[in-house]
Amino acid sequence: MRKRYDFEQRESEHDLSLDSNFPTEKSRHSVHSIPVYAGVLVLLYLILLYGLVIYFNGRLPAALNVQDESENPSAFISSRAIHDLQLLTKMGPRITGGYENEVLAVDFITREINFIVQQAHKNQKIEWDVQVTSGAYTLDLLHVDQINAYANVQNVVVKVHGTNDTENSLLVNAHFDSVPTSPGGSDDGINVVAMLEVLRKLSKSSARPLHNIILLFNGAEETPLQASHGFITKHKWAKGCKVVLNLEACGAGGKMILFQTGPQTPWLMDYYSKVPHPYAQAAGEEIFQNGWIPSDTDYRIFRDFGGLVGMDFAFYVNGYRYHTKYDDFENIPSGSYQHVGDNLLHLVNSLSRAPELSEEVPTSGKMVFFDFLGYFMVYYTTSIATVMNMAAVLASTAVAVYGITKLGFTKSSTKYIVTTFLALLSGWILAAVVMLLTALLLDNSGRAMTWYANPWLIFGLM
Ligand SMILES: [Zn+2]
Repeated sequence: MRKRYDFEQRESEHDLSLDSNFPTEKSRHSVHSIPVYAGVLVLLYLILLYGLVIYFNGRLPAALNVQDESENPSAFISSRAIHDLQLLTKMGPRITGGYENEVLAVDFITREINFIVQQAHKNQKIEWDVQVTSGAYTLDLLHVDQINAYANVQNVVVKVHGTNDTENSLLVNAHFDSVPTSPGGSDDGINVVAMLEVLRKLSKSSARPLHNIILLFNGAEETPLQASHGFITKHKWAKGCKVVLNLEACGAGGKMILFQTGPQTPWLMDYYSKVPHPYAQAAGEEIFQNGWIPSDTDYRIFRDFGGLVGMDFAFYVNGYRYHTKYDDFENIPSGSYQHVGDNLLHLVNSLSRAPELSEEVPTSGKMVFFDFLGYFMVYYTTSIATVMNMAAVLASTAVAVYGITKLGFTKSSTKYIVTTFLALLSGWILAAVVMLLTALLLDNSGRAMTWYANPWLIFGLM
């Protein structure tokens, strides 16, 4: 900063006579010598912004318990889901093919469903089924075809019948199996128990949905994605499924984010934008759909093998707990249940009455979407995004061109422009080099993942 100022000051002393348009020493001084309080204000603004985002990002809704139900008869009751997850995770890891998964977990889920169906409102028509399925599929992961064959994996499937007597259905999916190293609290137990509580609320309602609601409790996701393939290609209720809500986790606790939607269904966002706790980010869609990470969810199976459209959700904070023994019951705050429960119940109620499920909706295009501090959704089509981005590019180019023409192409101004440009460029290069060196240092000292549990380390890179 100091050096640049000196350089410009000296230059202007020499060149004032060459070009009357060239900034005087006084005007240059006002541009480059920023008062200290301005710097402090910018810093305070950044700290405030960071603090606000951290605060709103971590804020969870208050969890409701059974005593709250008389006042909120149609609301999702977290305490029942919490109780269910405690029982489910007590079984330990639920490995596909193992006793805990195939016997204990299936027994627990079917008993709960049976009980719910027995207590259901007389207007409701609810059926359920245990599917044992075998098959095989090929999936392109990171441009390599992978063949996956499976035998006798299990699905527990519930059908809440709609009033319109067609096969059109909304599908909701979560998996009750886990990896061998984890009790699967957030991945994916919390979503299984949230679905059970949503089923309780649906069953108690006197009003039947317009379209069928299929709840798929899937017993082989970690193997990977087998049971969803078995369901969508073979189950008798699969054919009518039009839209899927897929519930996943790659972290533990926190909020459930909508990270992927479509394909080609901008109308879905009209429904999501009305959920009680909007929380969404389109960046994940780019990462997943461009095949940049060697991971996928059942959403892809439903889309590629069943032609479904839908939304893909996941818990993602505390990602360092994912697939470890620390993804347990104790580490999930009660507000996480309410967050997924309120949003899921709202979406199930609205989408099971959506005309788009029975009509062919001629829509196309992708959406850019994100929430504003959890209060409301901002979403627009990618064609509008292109116009906005191009406008920003044109405006900044115009500013640069205007600045350069104002200076004129004298010897000294050209030197000034080139020096400024080179200073900017070397700033970027230096920043990249410092980041790479820091990464190398962390890697070689065996602390490559330190940032995962300590996100504040990002300040070291700023
Ligand atoms: Zn999972």
